[in-house]
Amino acid sequence: MRYYWKKAKGLRRKKKCPKMRKKRQKSLMGHKKDAWREFSRYIRLRDCFDNTEHAFCFTCRKPYHYKDMQAGHYIHDLNSTYFNPMNVHAQCVRCNYFLNGNGKVYRKHMVDTYGRKAVDKLERSAKAGKKFTKGELIRLKKRYKRLIPKLKDRYYGRTTQIGFD
Ligand SMILES: [Zn+2]
Repeated sequence: MRYYWKKAKGLRRKKKCPKMRKKRQKSLMGHKKDAWREFSRYIRLRDCFDNTEHAFCFTCRKPYHYKDMQAGHYIHDLNSTYFNPMNVHAQCVRCNYFLNGNGKVYRKHMVDTYGRKAVDKLERSAKAGKKFTKGELIRLKKRYKRLIPKLKDRYYGRTTQIGFD
């Protein structure tokens, strides 16, 4: 009796183990999503003005609550600039999603904010390409998670300092 019980228990364990191990391992994409969640919140809060939780859309300049906004890229899809704070700004859903980033206006406002030289440099750096490692993504997530409470105290909005038309 005892032998069979042990055997059965052993089998159960064998079956359970691979599943449990699978659950614990997060894919690179999963780590990227985690890092992006924190980074996106950081960007949208960074762009808030005065003592509010509202930010102007970087391209159409309309104000929205940061939770209704998205963090929109100037240069899309390339890993090297994916988590570059200069490449990402708070954007409304219309500009980021429906107008696909509103690229022409985005470039104009990038040049107004950072200057042509800096924008050219960013564009050049994007061409280099990069693949993030798991460790880098975890560090990015931690860094922006740590920075968010500091932002909330200060509420500085760099985009508001350059003035609006
Ligand atoms: Zn907009």
